[in-house]
Amino acid sequence: VIIVLKPEATADDAQAFLRRIEDAGLQPLYLPGSERTVLGALGDERVLARLNLESHPLVESLKPILTPYKRVSREMQGHDTRVDIGPVTVGGREFVVMAGPCAVESAAQIGATAAAIKSAGAVVLRGGAFKPRTSPYSFQGHGGEALELMAEAAREHGLPIVSEIVDPSDLALMEQHVDALQVGARNMQNFRLLQAVGRSHLPVLLKRGIAATIEELLLAAEYILDAGNPNVILCERGIRTFETATRNTLDLNAVALLKQRSHLPVVVDPSHGTGIRDLVPPMAKAAIGAGADGLIIEVHIDPAAALSDGPQSMNPQGFAELMQGIRPFVTAAGRELAA
Ligand code: PEP
Ligand code: MN
Repeated sequence: VIIVLKPEATADDAQAFLRRIEDAGLQPLYLPGSERTVLGALGDERVLARLNLESHPLVESLKPILTPYKRVSREMQGHDTRVDIGPVTVGGREFVVMAGPCAVESAAQIGATAAAIKSAGAVVLRGGAFKPRTSPYSFQGHGGEALELMAEAAREHGLPIVSEIVDPSDLALMEQHVDALQVGARNMQNFRLLQAVGRSHLPVLLKRGIAATIEELLLAAEYILDAGNPNVILCERGIRTFETATRNTLDLNAVALLKQRSHLPVVVDPSHGTGIRDLVPPMAKAAIGAGADGLIIEVHIDPAAALSDGPQSMNPQGFAELMQGIRPFVTAAGRELAA
């Protein structure tokens, strides 16, 4: 429930309310950013009812949050959350493009890719070190060594890094090398992993599961916020449907709806969303129109030789053209390309 206090309520009054909520075994929330003091209480509704807050003389109104997710909801926070990946802010006026290979393959590959995406205008380097692959016989990623190679390339080109974590036991290692943790589609409902990244100081890029509803995505994000980490970026990366002409069906409904239902930033991955290189530029433009705060795009120096996701990866020239091609769409959306 959201608790709006009367204008005469002081900071001490607010603290007293928060203590009372906590003592009752509920989770107290202080919700800044409004003229009135607004508090929240999360937990068992019967316990809440017993507190009888609505009859308190300093309480103006109580507003129940009817959605199953609370902390991530727009009702809980009206203004957009901004999430920093190193020096880059996602969710503000600037439109953020993240790019890089599906997987880090070698020093030469990640170095050349970092240089290419940087000169084309991307501001965050992506790359997988631990790859969750459908087949155990597919390339699984170079692990810790890949993180070091990527960190070196990123340092050289002044780019922050996002990379996928697949196991909570890798958290300390990941924290040494990356600026944002990616939770992949296959792990969106790995609740232990969500809680682990929820205890990290790093921001989290949370990708939608291949068969996850929008509500399930928001509840997965809720796990991370509930564990203490408010810095979550949602990512639409396509869902599985009856359609087989594309790898996935990029659900742009989700982008517009997520922006309405949640204050968290939303980015779109048209590479996994389509699985087809030539569809990436048009779907990138469509994502901007749908209200996305950014894009994450797979780029490989030689897609034909890529160890994973070659067919959906753009080469450096294609990516540079994409960056030019999206400019007018970014402007039309009232945004500016982050540089
Ligand atoms: C990836 O980003 O390379 C990846 C594996 O993404 P997803 O989890 O969306 O499949
Ligand atoms: Mn990939």
